[in-house]
Amino acid sequence: MRVELLPSSTPPSDLQFLVSFLVNDVVAIDAGALGILADLRRQRRVRHVFVTHEHLDHIATLPIFLENVYEPGPDCVELLASRQVLDFLHGDMFNGRVWPDFIDLSQVNDAFVRTTAIAPLRAIERAGLTFTPVPVSHGVETLGLVVDDGRTAVAFPSDTGPTNQFWEHLAGVERLTTVFLESSFPRSHGDLADRTGHLSTATFAAEIRKLPGAIRWIVVHRKARYADEIAREIDGLGLDNVEFVRPGEVYEL
Ligand SMILES: [Zn+2]
Ligand SMILES: [Zn+2]
Repeated sequence: MRVELLPSSTPPSDLQFLVSFLVNDVVAIDAGALGILADLRRQRRVRHVFVTHEHLDHIATLPIFLENVYEPGPDCVELLASRQVLDFLHGDMFNGRVWPDFIDLSQVNDAFVRTTAIAPLRAIERAGLTFTPVPVSHGVETLGLVVDDGRTAVAFPSDTGPTNQFWEHLAGVERLTTVFLESSFPRSHGDLADRTGHLSTATFAAEIRKLPGAIRWIVVHRKARYADEIAREIDGLGLDNVEFVRPGEVYEL
């Protein structure tokens, strides 16, 4: 499985402002930076976009992406999210004011986008991959995803604070090799992390202990203003199976 966290700074750097992963070039998980990918051919290859929750860093360029890849005809991008998130996107983003109502404008034979509701623990297959949504513990209802290509499984908990169901589910995923886990705040902001449903470096360390085994942990979602502090604190934990994501790098997992 090929996974890339799309760069979201200008010029590209290790700072992460927005969230969007590409899986095998054809599926996106979140659309923070999808619509600003300079290579339009790569945008057009993406046919399915999962949205884990409605926070702006995860949906910021979704309207730009749909605009970029639209072609008249029945073939269009599929947007997959919980029913609630689909309703938010329709009411607050594609509402005819912030952006044209691409959802109502989509006709069967001339569509911008079609929507599919996903639900916790209901696996769904797309592009030769199995996606299993699993709830995590964020400030709003959020579905992490486990992606399995039949050889390897990779987990994307999205934004989360301390959580249990996700790790309990992963304990039963035999092929799991890699988890992209957030660490948004340094230890000094642990209270804020707890209140907003994120991990500090302290709770990050506690979370990875909930899933023993030879897992590769890739740290994502460091708040840019604390990125160096978070890196120092995680390095200080002395864990040899933890690394920091490099936006724009293609991980062969
Ligand atoms: Zn969030
Ligand atoms: Zn986020």
